[in-house]
Amino acid sequence: MFVNIGCRTNAAESDEVAGLLSEASNVVVVNSCTVTAAADQDTRKAVARARREHPSAALVLMGCYVDAHPGDSLGADLLVPNAWKGAPTGVAVEPPGVRRSRYVLKVQDGCDNRCTFCIVWQTRDRSISRVLPYLEERARTAARLGYREIVLTGIDLGSYRGGLAPLVRRLLIACAPARIRFSSIDPSHVTPELPTLFEDPRVCPHLHLPLQSGSDPVLARMRRRYDVAGFRRAVKLVRAARPDLALTGDIMVGFPGESRDDFERTLALIEESGFMDLHVFRYSPRPRTAAARYADGVGLEEARERSRRAIELGHRLGDEYRRRFQGQSLQVIWDRSIGDSIRGLSENYIRVTAPAAGRRSGTLEEVVWTTASSAG
Ligand code: SF4
Repeated sequence: MFVNIGCRTNAAESDEVAGLLSEASNVVVVNSCTVTAAADQDTRKAVARARREHPSAALVLMGCYVDAHPGDSLGADLLVPNAWKGAPTGVAVEPPGVRRSRYVLKVQDGCDNRCTFCIVWQTRDRSISRVLPYLEERARTAARLGYREIVLTGIDLGSYRGGLAPLVRRLLIACAPARIRFSSIDPSHVTPELPTLFEDPRVCPHLHLPLQSGSDPVLARMRRRYDVAGFRRAVKLVRAARPDLALTGDIMVGFPGESRDDFERTLALIEESGFMDLHVFRYSPRPRTAAARYADGVGLEEARERSRRAIELGHRLGDEYRRRFQGQSLQVIWDRSIGDSIRGLSENYIRVTAPAAGRRSGTLEEVVWTTASSAG
């Protein structure tokens, strides 16, 4: 049994290890996360639940929590740090029994940056890219098994050695007829070449940019690789290639030293850029990070209020974006059924709900989207 916590890269690794362990019995693996204090908490809860529900199983704790909290085993029988997860570079194994509607392909691991709030680069080591023949083989296998969408993921996806654009061009050949979606890409990695990929109808017009803040002093204190002008340039490039592209992003509120004015600038930039979905994180200090030593923290109530306003703005912009596609055809991949309904995701990140009868998870269907059929 596998419990996955955290990012898409973790999900891809869980699938890979689950495939290798498919013969093993009575093993529970928790693939952990430590990106925020809440992720630590989720990890602890998952381990406790696994122990309670499977008292006789061997309990394996894997991933970022192990690297971030040396000596804190949470009572697991085996600890597997990130470095032991392995990065196979040769033969592709079959995707595992854990069947998802979309195939998550990890193309890269690790990060060479040193963002001051982030613990991930400490738990995952330097950036390393998987070799092209391996990735092509994986993509081919996924398409052969019937997957109709491949999500490219990595801790710092845009740092893929040799460039993302050449990689995607090769993978599009290997994975036909499946489509490709990017997970998060750092704004500094939006090169002039990258948006040309969106000319291919099999590349989902969806980009997730982890903006974090719309204020230069805050971005500098976070030690991000772009400033507001650089971010604007990236958005302009992708909008020139695909004006209707779905832009989603991450925002961090309450970073030490973030003034009200900084926060208002962030809201203004979100609005100007036309994000249609936001993941809003309230800053929490992580052990051994530079920002944890910054003294000028934002009060909890104020941070909560900022988070509420950013979430609200994200919802409003999302509604506006979705309204633009009413009555239009969307290419939806069905995900999971809930009762008599099934949910799916369009190429441009619109969540769609339809009657489940006659529809199967993982299949692609062209639907005419109406608000009445949308889960929003
Ligand atoms: S880019 Fe920054 S936030 Fe992202 S993993 Fe690297 S150090 Fe962490």
